[in-house]
Amino acid sequence: MHPCLSCGACCALYRVAFHWLEAAPEYGGRVPAALTEPLDGHRLVMKGTKHRPARCVALEADIGRHARCTIHADRPGVCREVAPSWEFGAVSPQCDRARLAHGMLALTPADWTRPVLPATAMTVHAGSNDDDPPPLPAAPAAA
Ligand code: SF4
Ligand code: SF4
Repeated sequence: MHPCLSCGACCALYRVAFHWLEAAPEYGGRVPAALTEPLDGHRLVMKGTKHRPARCVALEADIGRHARCTIHADRPGVCREVAPSWEFGAVSPQCDRARLAHGMLALTPADWTRPVLPATAMTVHAGSNDDDPPPLPAAPAAA
């Protein structure tokens, strides 16, 4: 399982700010405007992330157990830019900081090299997949 699907920490730590054009459909923006609020003259934020403690309104999660971005296909660009640590062979400071802030360990290269188990084996794998969310790749946020 992708580590983000059992995490969600970055979506519940950082301010998620981006240019208002990203929520303007007339200019091709796809972020649902109703889930945003103004930050300044040029930027919006995802609701829930303007102040601490932050938690994005689009996050459906039990942090550290399961997590899902409910607007994954239309999430802001800034959310797409934060990679989980070691997914692409490098540390992601924002990922590490968010996980540590939520009491989790930072990801390691080993988190990406575990064998993919067949579906029948996964049902009895430690941690149980019974309450896993649908396999939508969640992506992190940062500000
Ligand atoms: S990028 Fe890191 S902090 Fe964010 S959800 Fe994925 S694993 Fe968690
Ligand atoms: S990926 Fe972005 S929009 Fe989706 S829940 Fe996380 S912070 Fe919110």
